[in-house]
Amino acid sequence: MTSEFAPLYVVPTPLGNLADISERARAVLRDVVWVAAEDTRHSAPLLQHLGSRARLLAAHQHNEHAAAKQVLARLAAGESVAMISDAGTPGISDPGARIVAHVRAAGGRVIPLPGPCAAITALSAAGLEDGHWLFYGFLPTKSGQRQKSLTEVATLPYALVFYEAPHRVLETVADMAATLGAERALVIARELTKCFESIHALPLGEALDWLQADPMRQKGEFVLIVSGAAKDPEADNNGEAERILKLLLAEDLPVKQAAKLAAAITGAAKNALYARALELR
Ligand code: SAM
Repeated sequence: MTSEFAPLYVVPTPLGNLADISERARAVLRDVVWVAAEDTRHSAPLLQHLGSRARLLAAHQHNEHAAAKQVLARLAAGESVAMISDAGTPGISDPGARIVAHVRAAGGRVIPLPGPCAAITALSAAGLEDGHWLFYGFLPTKSGQRQKSLTEVATLPYALVFYEAPHRVLETVADMAATLGAERALVIARELTKCFESIHALPLGEALDWLQADPMRQKGEFVLIVSGAAKDPEADNNGEAERILKLLLAEDLPVKQAAKLAAAITGAAKNALYARALELR
């Protein structure tokens, strides 16, 4: 491909708080000739707010193939294009991957900007000391398929990051507890960067009751982070769970409470920790 081809910029936009747009994103959205938007009507106010006069073209999941061709034609004509989704980073549980692949396959230059992403924002406040996590995104919407998908990842010893919509959060959390285990820790990150932002950690087995206790807790957009599967009990005894259990027992917590907390923090099996706590006491 020759150098007169213009670049495709992948531009993250705010999850809710407009102040989260970066200086660079602002400049790119002002300077490009075209903005390929997931929903042009949704993005028009943001572009107006930024003072962008770029022309809009639609690039959503139902026209991504045609949009990819259109974007490539614009780039080939030397007209720069910025791709945005409704919120967050394009291509992350959002349209965009096909357009990027198309441009790259044609030898074009794709310039990604860092910026808002719900998964990364939630992870930054989740306090996962292990540091290893896997991004899953949206689970299937039907319960049978959802449980099957959860079973496939149930034994992975890494925290799992899911996206979920408000009307499915109760059934998803119930399926998670049934397939992954009630003892695992869950972080519920809701409405990040917005007025009613809330980040709450609790054992997976208590999540359904907690969400049902207040309808407000079920509203908005969710990132759900489940701690990784516990390693075998032998390893746990020598590892982090044992260390935390000892700390809690040293603070004179009752055996049952110490085991419950250590299980919630580490994702290890509560019963095994309870038995170990009885031995230690
Ligand atoms: N591309 C986006 C990103 O970079 O995060 C994700 C788009 S996906 C269609 C929308 C999902 O992201 C929502 O259903 C929710 O799971 C998550 N999400 C988006 N905004 C959020 C927010 N403010 N708080 C919590 N989760 C959010």
